[in-house]
Amino acid sequence: MSGLTTEHPANESKALPRAPMAVELVSFEPATGAEMWRGPLGDVDEQVARASRAWPAWAAQPLSTRMELLRRFANEVRKDAEAFATLIARETGKPMWEANVEVESVIAKVELSIRAYAERTAQRRLDSALQGTMALRHKPHGVVAVLGPFNYPAHLPCGHIVPALIAGNAVIFKPSEKVPASGEFLARCFHKAGVPAAIMQFCAGGPAEGQKLVAHEGVNGVLFTGSAHTGITINRRLAARPDKLVTLEMGGNNPIVVWDTPKITDAAAIVVQSAFASAGQRCTAARRLIVKDTMIEPLLAEVKSLADRIIFGAPFDSPAPFMGPVIDNAAADGLTESFLYLLSHGGRAIKHLVRPDEALPFLSPAIIDVTAMAEKPDVELFGPILQVIRVSDFDEAIAEANATRYGLVAALVGGTPQEYNRFWGHARAGIVNWNRPTIGPSHAAPVGGTGLSGNHRPSGFYAADYCAYPVASGEMEQPRAAIGVGLR
Ligand code: NAD
Repeated sequence: MSGLTTEHPANESKALPRAPMAVELVSFEPATGAEMWRGPLGDVDEQVARASRAWPAWAAQPLSTRMELLRRFANEVRKDAEAFATLIARETGKPMWEANVEVESVIAKVELSIRAYAERTAQRRLDSALQGTMALRHKPHGVVAVLGPFNYPAHLPCGHIVPALIAGNAVIFKPSEKVPASGEFLARCFHKAGVPAAIMQFCAGGPAEGQKLVAHEGVNGVLFTGSAHTGITINRRLAARPDKLVTLEMGGNNPIVVWDTPKITDAAAIVVQSAFASAGQRCTAARRLIVKDTMIEPLLAEVKSLADRIIFGAPFDSPAPFMGPVIDNAAADGLTESFLYLLSHGGRAIKHLVRPDEALPFLSPAIIDVTAMAEKPDVELFGPILQVIRVSDFDEAIAEANATRYGLVAALVGGTPQEYNRFWGHARAGIVNWNRPTIGPSHAAPVGGTGLSGNHRPSGFYAADYCAYPVASGEMEQPRAAIGVGLR
């Protein structure tokens, strides 16, 4: 049995018998520290065997049947939207308004994926020689493992799960070990809609279960969203397995460049949204603010004043917070250490990182000028820390923007159309924006990055491409052939 913990951990431990720790997973509410969910770890061998047995019948269903079931899934999510959003808010710590947006994105994913399947992987007849035809069709891979991140426990895994199911794959979904309750709820919505339990399976677990799924002979593909560190580990593990599909959606060290603009207030709002939404826990969050030196005083004054007004608090607080805590105390400790590292290596604090309660992972937005640092660490600080770099000309701004091994998003705020053209041409990233935040990519477009941000298999609208493989067939109703040359 798995399920939500309703009592305080101290009381509950007396009331309920517990399975041994080694076979259990437990999650906690970041905003309170209270236990949230407890349940057994997934049995990877058993789950893969079940999925392998069930998969051929699922793949043989007409596409229209699978699409219909997925539409029913969207309806199930809609019916339970409030409860689902509440659960996500509790388990991730994100504000309720943001959890509502996440649930809406899950619902929208179905129609987007149906459209994407039709546009990207539709069946086609092509001309061929000798009156035969050449047909292009797509086949599912088989059993795929979806490994999800903690920050969007429903929306991002659905970016793989929904198109994978439409294409006819069986899915074993292992959410992040930090958000099993949200993952389990999501899986139930599929089952209530009629997607067979063996075809869409929830697997509770952490890195160990992730590793087992990756290495399992019965798993034909690994659809991963998470950190570059884990993505590279998976890629290495499967380096000698070209037969297995590997899609990696990873992090970023995203730049936002602010250039000449009279609209300082708007520019500052774009910067603050980009850096601090979700307490900076978005793959697309702006980590580095690159600013023309003549703009730096007015812009930073405005950014700081906005950041000072940000309410950070628990998901259901009133008035609603702009952002919640980071996911857990280990993350808060790591971010605090990173901020101190930047400070002690030449960084100048513009707004300090404050942790009002050492027992909980709430962090204030922080801004630090790192221009003087001899070596700026090219790492993803997955939290509310914005690093500022001042530059004097546009080439320097582009060079700074590209001074990263990652390549998820780059944004320019201000500048002329010609400067944007140059920026667009030179920025190495899968998403390049102008006068728009780095966050909130459209899932009606491909979402993916270059460098350490991905392996050239973008998700979003192009997820359809990797969820099925193309099969080209030359076809004729009867064999008809003659050898015209070279015969004695
Ligand atoms: P993570 O890499 O720690 O974990 C992601 C998933 O991988 C989890 O399910 C985890 O249990 C599993 N895992 C961990 N080690 C594994 C291993 N060795 N083998 C197999 N599976 C393993 O990531 P996270 O902390 O949950 O999420 C935050 C990260 O995700 C950030 O880096 C963020 O930028 C990135 N992210 C990327 C995107 C994108 O679309 N590019 C979207 C959201 C988040």
